[in-house]
Amino acid sequence: MPDVITDLAEIEQLARARRDEFEILRYQLEAMDDLDDAALDAFVDAVAAPIVAAIDCTQCANCCRSLHVYVTAEDAQRLADGLHIPLDAIETRYINREAAQADDEWGMLRARPCAFLQGKLCSVYAQRPDACRRYPQFTPDFRWTLADTLDGAALCPIIYNVLSEIVRRVDAGELKES
Ligand code: SF4
Ligand code: SF4
Repeated sequence: MPDVITDLAEIEQLARARRDEFEILRYQLEAMDDLDDAALDAFVDAVAAPIVAAIDCTQCANCCRSLHVYVTAEDAQRLADGLHIPLDAIETRYINREAAQADDEWGMLRARPCAFLQGKLCSVYAQRPDACRRYPQFTPDFRWTLADTLDGAALCPIIYNVLSEIVRRVDAGELKES
Protein backbone atom coordinates (compact mmCIF):
# COMPACT_ATOMS: atom_id res chain seq x y z
CA MET A 1 0.00 0.00 0.00
CA PRO A 2 1.42 3.44 -0.89
CA ASP A 3 1.70 6.10 1.81
CA VAL A 4 -1.67 7.65 2.60
CA ILE A 5 -2.27 11.37 2.13
CA THR A 6 -4.10 13.06 4.98
CA ASP A 7 -3.56 16.79 4.40
CA LEU A 8 -7.08 18.11 3.79
CA ALA A 9 -6.11 20.91 1.41
CA GLU A 10 -4.05 18.48 -0.66
CA ILE A 11 -6.86 15.93 -0.63
CA GLU A 12 -9.35 18.51 -1.90
CA GLN A 13 -7.03 19.66 -4.67
CA LEU A 14 -6.10 16.13 -5.78
CA ALA A 15 -9.67 14.85 -5.68
CA ARG A 16 -10.91 17.69 -7.87
CA ALA A 17 -8.02 17.24 -10.29
CA ARG A 18 -8.67 13.47 -10.53
CA ARG A 19 -12.48 13.59 -10.68
CA ASP A 20 -12.52 12.44 -14.32
CA GLU A 21 -10.18 9.59 -13.49
CA PHE A 22 -12.51 8.41 -10.73
CA GLU A 23 -15.52 8.73 -13.05
CA ILE A 24 -13.73 6.55 -15.60
CA LEU A 25 -13.24 3.96 -12.86
CA ARG A 26 -16.99 3.99 -12.32
CA TYR A 27 -17.67 3.42 -16.01
CA GLN A 28 -15.06 0.64 -16.11
CA LEU A 29 -16.63 -1.16 -13.17
CA GLU A 30 -20.16 -0.81 -14.52
CA ALA A 31 -18.96 -2.37 -17.80
CA MET A 32 -17.41 -5.41 -16.09
CA ASP A 33 -20.43 -7.67 -16.56
CA ASP A 34 -18.58 -10.82 -15.56
CA LEU A 35 -17.43 -9.43 -12.23
CA ASP A 36 -20.14 -10.03 -9.69
CA ASP A 37 -20.95 -7.46 -7.01
CA ALA A 38 -19.81 -9.67 -4.12
CA ALA A 39 -16.38 -10.25 -5.68
CA LEU A 40 -15.94 -6.54 -6.33
CA ASP A 41 -17.03 -5.71 -2.77
CA ALA A 42 -14.49 -8.21 -1.39
CA PHE A 43 -11.76 -6.57 -3.49
CA VAL A 44 -12.77 -3.12 -2.24
CA ASP A 45 -12.94 -4.24 1.39
CA ALA A 46 -9.42 -5.69 1.10
CA VAL A 47 -8.14 -2.41 -0.38
CA ALA A 48 -9.92 -0.27 2.20
CA ALA A 49 -9.02 -2.15 5.40
CA PRO A 50 -5.34 -1.10 5.69
CA ILE A 51 -6.16 2.47 4.62
CA VAL A 52 -8.90 2.79 7.24
CA ALA A 53 -6.47 1.40 9.81
CA ALA A 54 -3.75 3.87 8.77
CA ILE A 55 -5.86 7.04 9.01
CA ASP A 56 -6.69 8.48 12.43
CA CYS A 57 -10.13 10.06 12.22
CA THR A 58 -9.57 11.79 15.57
CA GLN A 59 -6.97 13.95 13.81
CA CYS A 60 -9.36 14.88 11.00
CA ALA A 61 -13.11 15.18 11.74
CA ASN A 62 -13.65 16.83 8.37
CA CYS A 63 -16.86 14.86 7.79
CA CYS A 64 -18.25 16.17 11.11
CA ARG A 65 -17.49 19.70 9.98
CA SER A 66 -18.73 19.33 6.42
CA LEU A 67 -21.60 16.89 5.99
CA HIS A 68 -25.31 16.99 6.57
CA VAL A 69 -26.08 14.03 8.84
CA TYR A 70 -29.47 12.36 8.75
CA VAL A 71 -30.90 10.77 11.86
CA THR A 72 -33.45 8.04 12.32
CA ALA A 73 -36.05 7.92 15.08
CA GLU A 74 -33.84 5.37 16.87
CA ASP A 75 -30.83 7.72 16.62
CA ALA A 76 -32.83 10.56 18.14
CA GLN A 77 -34.07 8.39 21.02
CA ARG A 78 -30.52 7.12 21.67
CA LEU A 79 -29.28 10.71 21.85
CA ALA A 80 -32.11 11.63 24.21
CA ASP A 81 -31.37 8.67 26.47
CA GLY A 82 -27.60 9.22 26.40
CA LEU A 83 -27.76 12.94 27.06
CA HIS A 84 -30.64 12.62 29.55
CA ILE A 85 -32.61 15.21 27.61
CA PRO A 86 -36.28 14.76 26.60
CA LEU A 87 -36.77 13.75 22.98
CA ASP A 88 -38.64 16.94 22.14
CA ALA A 89 -35.71 18.99 23.48
CA ILE A 90 -33.28 16.97 21.34
CA GLU A 91 -35.45 17.77 18.34
CA THR A 92 -35.68 21.48 19.17
CA ARG A 93 -31.98 21.92 19.79
CA TYR A 94 -30.34 19.58 17.33
CA ILE A 95 -32.62 18.11 14.68
CA ASN A 96 -34.43 19.63 11.73
CA ARG A 97 -37.37 17.30 11.12
CA GLU A 98 -38.40 19.10 7.93
CA ALA A 99 -35.09 18.22 6.28
CA ALA A 100 -35.82 14.47 6.29
CA GLN A 101 -35.65 13.22 2.71
CA ALA A 102 -36.35 9.49 2.88
CA ASP A 103 -38.86 7.23 4.60
CA ASP A 104 -36.31 6.01 7.16
CA GLU A 105 -35.07 9.52 7.97
CA TRP A 106 -36.47 11.28 11.02
CA GLY A 107 -34.57 14.50 10.36
CA MET A 108 -31.13 16.00 9.89
CA LEU A 109 -28.70 17.34 12.44
CA ARG A 110 -29.17 21.10 12.32
CA ALA A 111 -25.67 22.44 12.66
CA ARG A 112 -22.65 22.27 10.39
CA PRO A 113 -20.08 21.78 11.84
CA CYS A 114 -21.97 19.31 13.97
CA ALA A 115 -23.03 20.69 17.35
CA PHE A 116 -21.66 17.56 19.03
CA LEU A 117 -18.14 18.06 17.70
CA GLN A 118 -15.69 19.19 20.36
CA GLY A 119 -12.34 19.97 18.81
CA LYS A 120 -11.87 16.95 16.58
CA LEU A 121 -13.79 14.54 18.80
CA CYS A 122 -17.42 13.49 18.92
CA SER A 123 -18.90 14.34 22.33
CA VAL A 124 -21.70 11.80 21.84
CA TYR A 125 -19.57 9.02 20.39
CA ALA A 126 -21.46 6.17 22.05
CA GLN A 127 -24.81 7.65 20.99
CA ARG A 128 -23.83 9.00 17.57
CA PRO A 129 -26.23 8.41 14.65
CA ASP A 130 -25.89 5.26 12.59
CA ALA A 131 -24.95 7.39 9.56
CA CYS A 132 -21.86 8.56 11.46
CA ARG A 133 -20.98 4.99 12.44
CA ARG A 134 -21.09 3.83 8.84
CA TYR A 135 -19.22 6.73 7.24
CA PRO A 136 -17.38 6.35 4.95
CA GLN A 137 -19.17 3.30 3.58
CA PHE A 138 -17.86 1.55 0.48
CA THR A 139 -19.73 -1.74 0.58
CA PRO A 140 -22.10 -3.43 -0.04
CA ASP A 141 -22.81 -2.47 -3.63
CA PHE A 142 -19.61 -0.49 -4.22
CA ARG A 143 -20.23 -0.44 -7.97
CA TRP A 144 -23.72 1.03 -7.66
CA THR A 145 -22.98 3.53 -4.89
CA LEU A 146 -19.71 4.81 -6.37
CA ALA A 147 -21.35 7.92 -7.81
CA ASP A 148 -22.21 9.05 -4.27
CA THR A 149 -18.85 7.95 -2.89
CA LEU A 150 -17.05 10.13 -5.44
CA ASP A 151 -18.65 13.21 -3.94
CA GLY A 152 -16.83 12.51 -0.67
CA ALA A 153 -13.37 12.14 -2.19
CA ALA A 154 -12.57 15.85 -1.86
CA LEU A 155 -13.39 15.99 1.85
CA CYS A 156 -12.54 12.56 3.26
CA PRO A 157 -8.95 11.26 3.24
CA ILE A 158 -10.15 7.68 3.62
CA ILE A 159 -12.32 7.93 0.51
CA TYR A 160 -9.65 9.66 -1.55
CA ASN A 161 -6.93 7.16 -0.65
CA VAL A 162 -9.18 4.13 -1.17
CA LEU A 163 -10.28 5.34 -4.61
CA SER A 164 -6.68 6.12 -5.56
CA GLU A 165 -5.56 2.65 -4.58
CA ILE A 166 -8.46 1.00 -6.41
CA VAL A 167 -7.59 2.95 -9.58
CA ARG A 168 -3.96 1.90 -9.24
CA ARG A 169 -4.83 -1.78 -8.80
CA VAL A 170 -7.41 -1.83 -11.57
CA ASP A 171 -4.89 -0.19 -13.92
CA ALA A 172 -2.36 -2.83 -12.88
CA GLY A 173 -4.82 -5.56 -13.89
CA GLU A 174 -5.33 -6.84 -10.34
CA LEU A 175 -9.13 -6.93 -10.65
CA LYS A 176 -10.12 -9.90 -12.77
CA GLU A 177 -13.51 -10.76 -14.23
CA SER A 178 -14.39 -14.41 -13.60
S1 SF4 B 1 -22.66 13.13 15.94
FE1 SF4 B 1 -20.48 12.92 16.33
S2 SF4 B 1 -19.70 11.60 14.68
FE2 SF4 B 1 -21.70 12.41 14.00
S3 SF4 B 1 -21.26 14.29 12.84
FE3 SF4 B 1 -21.62 14.89 14.99
S4 SF4 B 1 -19.59 14.95 15.93
FE4 SF4 B 1 -19.42 13.76 14.03
S1 SF4 C 1 -14.22 9.51 7.94
FE1 SF4 C 1 -12.94 10.68 6.50
S2 SF4 C 1 -13.49 12.86 6.78
FE2 SF4 C 1 -14.30 11.69 8.54
S3 SF4 C 1 -12.73 11.89 10.11
FE3 SF4 C 1 -12.30 9.97 9.02
S4 SF4 C 1 -10.87 10.51 7.38
FE4 SF4 C 1 -11.76 12.43 8.14
